[in-house]
Amino acid sequence: MPKPHIRALKWIGAVPVIGACSSCGRQFTVPLTAIKRVADAQQNLTLQFEGHNCSVKTRDEPIVDSTKQEGT
Ligand SMILES: [Zn+2]
Repeated sequence: MPKPHIRALKWIGAVPVIGACSSCGRQFTVPLTAIKRVADAQQNLTLQFEGHNCSVKTRDEPIVDSTKQEGT
């Protein structure tokens, strides 16, 4: 399985301003204060990416109500 990584969705010049997780699709926006420098923007995105709660929802799994009991 490929590891989730961040991919830039929007750029201003050479500076990534919006990134998204390749796994769960969560988007990260670089604050205005960090977009002045490419390195700051990249670091900001990376920090947000590493800090986010990555959870991929699988639609294949059926929702089973385990509390329901058969019979009676
Ligand atoms: Zn994610």
